[in-house]
Amino acid sequence: MSGLRLLAIHAHPDDESSKGAATMARYAAQGHRVKVLTCTDGRRGDVLNPAMDRPGVLENITNVRREEMARAVEALGVEHTWLGYEDSGLPEGDPLPPLPEGCFALQDPLEVARVVVEEIRSFRPHVIITYDENGGYPHPDHLMVHEVSMIAWEKAGDPEFAPEAGEPWTPLKLYYSHGFILQRMKLLQDLLISRGEKSPYELMIKRWEENEGDIMDRVTTRVECAEYFPQRAAALTAHATQIDPAGAFLASPVEDQRSVWPTEEFELAKSRVETQLPETDLFAGVK
Ligand SMILES: [Zn+2]
Repeated sequence: MSGLRLLAIHAHPDDESSKGAATMARYAAQGHRVKVLTCTDGRRGDVLNPAMDRPGVLENITNVRREEMARAVEALGVEHTWLGYEDSGLPEGDPLPPLPEGCFALQDPLEVARVVVEEIRSFRPHVIITYDENGGYPHPDHLMVHEVSMIAWEKAGDPEFAPEAGEPWTPLKLYYSHGFILQRMKLLQDLLISRGEKSPYELMIKRWEENEGDIMDRVTTRVECAEYFPQRAAALTAHATQIDPAGAFLASPVEDQRSVWPTEEFELAKSRVETQLPETDLFAGVK
């Protein structure tokens, strides 16, 4: 089985590297076509890595993130398209400030879905990966990605919808990626502490325990991809402005990640083919 196509729809440059990256690298290496769709330009991202907090970076953040994204895409061995919408930023404060005019989250979902449908009809993915109804992370752009993905899933195969956007194509499965697994973080933290090292996971774990239920209850599909963890780490590292090498994403060596959690997790949200849950392969049931 090869030559199938997988499309991952993401909000910002770097989301592809923290949600399902090793899975994408695995399928690409196995001869499938894998494509990342990045909806926004990432212009409202802060510089989260102290080493990158220097003159010329924040002023040119859109260009810097384009270059970072190119390196991440190369590390994963996947294809990539920018949709070019304006990053909405994560509103902070009380009360929350309004979203910036013209940003992605304020677009008409049906109009964005039409653009996504055009991409789907041109790439013809068998499987789509997107975010769950909470965005995986409560960012207005992530919620928008969820909303437009679900419309596009319904409409891409409908010849009545946007006939100018290409020949209808009906994707067969749609998954939510679940990149933040509490149990995994705790295991990684235990390993670091057992070696007398400091844990960068504490805050994340605390926040997760307070706010989220057990995401593993929703997981239907665990993809073995430990072989591709070095590629995932390289892709994360490529997003140098966004990922602090001392932070939670890169704190644990690849060997630790392989030993405690050799998989990535997904939830089969929609399917037009028969499949048996739990699964270990996103293409299960797709011929
Ligand atoms: Zn994001």
